[in-house]
Amino acid sequence: MGRRKETITYPSGTISTSLNEGSVGSGLDFSPSLDAGATVAEHYRPRVSYYMREQAGNFHYGKQHPMKPHRLTLTNHLVLNYGLHKHMDVYEPRRATEDEIREFHAEDYIDFLKRVTPDNQAAMQACFSSFNIGDDCPIFDGMWDFCQIYSGASIEAARKLVSGAADIAVNWMGGLHHAKKYEPSGFCYVNDIVLAILQLLRYYPRVLYVDIDIHHGDGVQEAFYTTDRVMTCSFHKYNGDFFPGTGAIDEMGSGLGKFYAVNVPLQDGIDDRSYTQLFKTIMTAVMDTFKPGAIVLQCGADSLGCDRLGVFNLSIAAHGECVRFMRRFGVPLMVIGGGGYTIRNVARCWTYETGIVCGAELPSALPDTVYRDFFAPDYSLHPQLSGRVVNHNTRAYLNALTARILEQLRYLKGAPSVQMSEAPPDIQGFLEDQERHEKDVRAEREKEEKEDRAGRREHLAELYESDHDQDQEGD
Ligand SMILES: [Zn+2]
Repeated sequence: MGRRKETITYPSGTISTSLNEGSVGSGLDFSPSLDAGATVAEHYRPRVSYYMREQAGNFHYGKQHPMKPHRLTLTNHLVLNYGLHKHMDVYEPRRATEDEIREFHAEDYIDFLKRVTPDNQAAMQACFSSFNIGDDCPIFDGMWDFCQIYSGASIEAARKLVSGAADIAVNWMGGLHHAKKYEPSGFCYVNDIVLAILQLLRYYPRVLYVDIDIHHGDGVQEAFYTTDRVMTCSFHKYNGDFFPGTGAIDEMGSGLGKFYAVNVPLQDGIDDRSYTQLFKTIMTAVMDTFKPGAIVLQCGADSLGCDRLGVFNLSIAAHGECVRFMRRFGVPLMVIGGGGYTIRNVARCWTYETGIVCGAELPSALPDTVYRDFFAPDYSLHPQLSGRVVNHNTRAYLNALTARILEQLRYLKGAPSVQMSEAPPDIQGFLEDQERHEKDVRAEREKEEKEDRAGRREHLAELYESDHDQDQEGD
């Protein structure tokens, strides 16, 4: 496979230009075929921010582990080679600070994450059982750094929306929805989504979280289970056994948050038409009832057909249709990654969805990259992914499910808590924090530049020394 390293160059702060708007299907009559030739004029021209850090793709959970951060490198290469950076502001975000991660996670858990390494893990064995470390969540080289990188990007993305400098912010590194306050879970160590939503809540009275990963978004639901300021809405496979085992329809929230958790449990093999119809019907009702100030959309790509861990039948077009549908509400939108274990399809899917948020239509033929071999034999953005699994979601089941969820949402209509939740936004606190945050960013940039310069000096010294050596084979 062509895994040789290629340096990604991209402009900082590119301009948004007027684009070829993607076509927009009407509400519920989604057709899974691409909408070629059906272009509809659209007036929404959102400003899009995109967050990427090249190092994020270089971490390894382990050879046998299904989570491959390399999918981020594949995605970025496709995004850039399709020229999508010309339609977005591209940022290399800073790392999240410990203080920022502490806004959700427990002190001793953070301490553990910071200190544990593959080398000292034997000595720290005693802590492991309490922190759920094991096959799913192994200790790997640079783990804490990885957490700080993907979380920093989600925090910056949220702040960008709050500041009004972007209408849509995309971070494919983020979306690690299973992480809990006190422990890692399901390949997730730090819950960047919760951290981002906490930022959004400082300004927006109500935030909607939508999750189309095949797994239940349990970490995010749990964090906001008792508040009416965040509605969580997760579409996932559920049979009580499939990971993480939660997400039944009767998990609805509690206390003030009662009815503000929406769960859409699905069976194996759901197809494009059923999924998108269900999604649009439920999201229309959710938007109408909850009226969020901002939306966070977790786009786990393990709900695609042919995923290594998944059991659905979705095409990339249908998965993307959910993104397109949420974008059309014109509400500040954060788009993040999540699961996805057949990495060639994850990269295709997130590239397609980057095109959707930009309003750019992408040709099916993939652009050339050094990773071209990954996309054989079709080299297409839209390979055939459906039909591997029998669809166990009957029409009757889906109708009953829809009816129950619409009933749940009716309880909220006109409920006093909706009006009362217009909490005064903490804008002054946000501005002060923003100032501190900008100082942090400047300090970190200066530190990195200094290290860079030192690194370059060392590198030059090596080159100079090597001039005196005989030719050496190397790779
Ligand atoms: Zn998942």
